Amino acid sequence: MICPSCHAEIDSSTETKPGLIAYISGFIIALCGCWCGCCLIPCCVDECMDVHHVCPNCKAYLGRFKR
Ligand SMILES: [Zn+2]
Repeated sequence: MICPSCHAEIDSSTETKPGLIAYISGFIIALCGCWCGCCLIPCCVDECMDVHHVCPNCKAYLGRFKR
């Protein structure tokens, strides 16, 4: 992609961080146990992970995208 800040052709470095919801749902899943937790885990993990993109050249913050 092209960096909007320095216009260099970059391969943006990504940083995946779980959002707050991921922690909360993880806590709820732990409380509920496996009987209902197992079916919730796959949908929660994908929806709760935020991917932060940063330009490796000028360190500009490019944005946060859902995978
Ligand atoms: Zn840049």
